Amino acid sequence: MSLRLNRRHFIAGSAGLIAMHPFSVNAASGQAHLRLMETTDLHVHVFPYDYYADRPVDTVGLSRTASIIEGVRAESTNSLLLDNGDFLQGNPMGDYIAYERGMNEGDMHPVITAMNTLGFDASTLGNHEFNYGISFLMKSVAGAAFPVVSANVVKEMGASPTADTTLLPPYTILEREIIDGDGNAAPIKIGLIGFVPPQIMNWDRKHLEGNVQARDIVETARAYVPQMIEEGADIIVALSHSGIGGAEAEYGMENASIPLAAVDGIDAILTGHSHLVFPSSNYDDWAGVDVAAGTIGGKPGVMAGFWGSHMGLVDLLIERDGSSWRVLSHTAEARPISRREEDRSITPLVEDFEPVLASIQDVHDETLAYVRTAVGKTAAPLHSYFALVADDPSVQIVSNAQLWYIADQLTGTEYAGLPILSATAPFKAGGRGGPEYFTDVPVGDVAIKNVADLYLYPNTVRAVKVTGAQVKDWLERSAGMFNQVDAGATDAILLNPDFPSYNFDVMDGVTYQIDLTQPSKFDREGAVINPDANRIVNLQFDGQPVDPEQEFIIATNNYRASGGGSFPGALGDTIIFEGPDTNRDVIVRYIVEQGTIDPKADANWSFAPLPDTSLMFETGPAGAAYADSVEGMTITPAGTSDSGFALFRIEM
Ligand code: MN
Ligand code: MG
Repeated sequence: MSLRLNRRHFIAGSAGLIAMHPFSVNAASGQAHLRLMETTDLHVHVFPYDYYADRPVDTVGLSRTASIIEGVRAESTNSLLLDNGDFLQGNPMGDYIAYERGMNEGDMHPVITAMNTLGFDASTLGNHEFNYGISFLMKSVAGAAFPVVSANVVKEMGASPTADTTLLPPYTILEREIIDGDGNAAPIKIGLIGFVPPQIMNWDRKHLEGNVQARDIVETARAYVPQMIEEGADIIVALSHSGIGGAEAEYGMENASIPLAAVDGIDAILTGHSHLVFPSSNYDDWAGVDVAAGTIGGKPGVMAGFWGSHMGLVDLLIERDGSSWRVLSHTAEARPISRREEDRSITPLVEDFEPVLASIQDVHDETLAYVRTAVGKTAAPLHSYFALVADDPSVQIVSNAQLWYIADQLTGTEYAGLPILSATAPFKAGGRGGPEYFTDVPVGDVAIKNVADLYLYPNTVRAVKVTGAQVKDWLERSAGMFNQVDAGATDAILLNPDFPSYNFDVMDGVTYQIDLTQPSKFDREGAVINPDANRIVNLQFDGQPVDPEQEFIIATNNYRASGGGSFPGALGDTIIFEGPDTNRDVIVRYIVEQGTIDPKADANWSFAPLPDTSLMFETGPAGAAYADSVEGMTITPAGTSDSGFALFRIEM
């Protein structure tokens, strides 16, 4: 199993455990204290800055994590700083380098520059390192002043993993001097081996197919670890860009950190990929881990959040064992850079480590310019003022991008023949956000920072496989957005104020109408209250009524697919594709590739005719300019509400 939780709930929220340190006193004679520091899933977050929103934030940034790292270094005699992958991609600075500035031979990638400045000892590759292609990746890591290892990405398969020709060195053995409890320097060999989910072959097929192959993580570890021991590694640390998933090894598993940690000879494990925190209550009662002991598969381990939100710290007390060293005791913790208060405000816990900021100040400034300039054009205004009453361009663009992406991802899979629908909701549509809280991008240039406006949350793309009956119920659930309206009513209040707009999924790929005279089939929480209600009428695919038995793929996001909003067909058991890419990244790629987008709403849904009835709803006052452009209905201004919203009337 994997964690199916929306990422945004975990931004720097989990306090690190206050570990009871056996290490606050010096190691005894013949012992030494070795501290392993982890960053993971940095995704180019060096500055504490949200480039999409174009504002500083206190929840991200290697410049902040660096202050924790410098603090640990100052109190340690022996430490290693290790990164666990996903450093090259994931924010507009990464896109700026990939799409705009480029990586020529000899160019430095800014995240590598920052990592060199901080003095990393080693890193491994994450799945996102492959997003811009292998050549981009190789030119980027060429600038690293530290080894980058990856054992299961293979250029030429051998008969066994150790006979493979890997893309990068599978492991490294650092030969260091360690200061023991008596203050004497002693030699130590620390082996570091890296792993990435083999699913990269699906996620980045167009870059990888024919160029590399990926091996199973545990299989690869079992082959290499004995070889590392043979070569003299005293201590072996797995850099596992893989999440904490099932306790038992399953061939090809994505989140393999528990069985990987359990491989004989591995002494400690650094994990990542899931963007969560270990140890933390995220993993209470999780089979195969011990939150209190800080162990994963019985070995000391951490997962340091994402975007620099935490620094992972594994403290090892090691003891000389003949000519080698062995782990005597250990602790693990994840130290956050910020704290979320009860009122949801954020308190930073550390300041910036200035040398890291200074090392790429120029690229930061260039990235600011990049997010503020056009990457594409839109031929239709992208606004959400009428997204709750009619098919709408701000929803259509997201839908189009999801369809484009999922169609590509499913090419060549067993699902390739199934019709693909796309579901997405207007996130910025007034409500508690207030009368200004709408998406509003005019015709013309689209800048990167506009994409945050189009897609508010850092969700990732998912696809589910459902039946025609589930498609209908999915839409019935969405239609809870509306109050029940009597035919012939005058100025009936249309929108249910208790229903959040993010649960109003619009579905593209089918056509349908919503009969407002029917009661809602579902309540606000998604429980069936009117089993016989049918708000969704004339539901058609390809001009034919949808067969309840017919199978469909729906492109959506991780929140919805894993049960967010309790949508029929989206309760976590229908997922057939879990993409690593955020919906926002997919929209950026879509716009960059298309050049000019024309996400004119296709009016594939509407209200069923209601003769002699008028409806009232409220939206942002700035929507007045667009009221005439809504197809298929007459929308006229009807004053202003007390809370500053504009009222509009629909004559049905
Ligand atoms: Mn990641
Ligand atoms: Mg549409």
